[in-house]
Amino acid sequence: MGNNLFDLTGRIALVTGSSRGIGKELAAGLADAGASIVLHGRETERLAATTAEFVQRYGASRIFSYAFDVTDDAAVASNIARIEAEVGPLRILVNNAGIQHRVPLLELEVTDWQRVLETNLTSAFLVGREVARSMLERGEGKIINICSVQSDLARPTIAAYTAAKGGLRNLTRAMTAEWAARGLQINAIAPGYIHTEMTQNLVDDEKFNSWILGRTPAGRWGTVEDLAGPAVWLASDGSNYVNGQTIFIDGGMSVVV
Ligand code: NDP
Repeated sequence: MGNNLFDLTGRIALVTGSSRGIGKELAAGLADAGASIVLHGRETERLAATTAEFVQRYGASRIFSYAFDVTDDAAVASNIARIEAEVGPLRILVNNAGIQHRVPLLELEVTDWQRVLETNLTSAFLVGREVARSMLERGEGKIINICSVQSDLARPTIAAYTAAKGGLRNLTRAMTAEWAARGLQINAIAPGYIHTEMTQNLVDDEKFNSWILGRTPAGRWGTVEDLAGPAVWLASDGSNYVNGQTIFIDGGMSVVV
């Protein structure tokens, strides 16, 4: 263990869904702490643009990118094998790729239910299983699953998402039960309401915005920067005895009524 518990220099991190949004900022946080980054998404043009940005910022020797669908079992297995052969052993995995689908429960189509479950939950099992195979052989690795306050709380119109994120919290525990003794730490980050491009319409909605401000003890929306510190901590030696936990980064929203 080096002098700096949070130094990720020389460690390779795959962040799924890092072509944009929260995943992109988490990848930047890990890169700022020294990690080499495997960027990922489905849509190749956006991924290429993000990759060019990261290469500019961190240098070509530390930045890689692979496009594949995290819900496709065969594509996950072949791409994880390629990453490990071409880039090197993965020391850090962030299961971040996810989607939302808002519709009342009575109107929720089974195909949409399945799509949300597959993208937010099954993907973490598929990617986590493939990455863990070689992490377990090497006896070290960090897996961070991106949950949500909806891992623990519910709101109308997002039943599939809530079920998936609750499942992801328990998958974090299941991975811990099987893999912790062999050197892996698996934890989750549960962001609250984060001000991003995607939530700008909610920030601009006066009624929703004042509900968030009143409902959040910290009295403000979260920022993507608020997520980077806990991600670096959970990816680093600074969290070597933290196992199976879900860290809520929500300004205290989940601890008050
Ligand atoms: P975005 O919609 O901004 O980005 C989603 C990312 O996931 C993109 O890179 C997208 O790639 C990728 N992705 C989606 N589906 C697939 C798939 N099947 N295969 C491969 N890649 C895929 O999401 P956010 O940044 O808002 O959210 C990121 C995570 O954080 C999610 O898990 C979300 O549930 C969670 N979260 C978000 C909150 C928020 O306020 N935004 C709050 C709490 C949790 P492409 O564009 O190529 O499809």
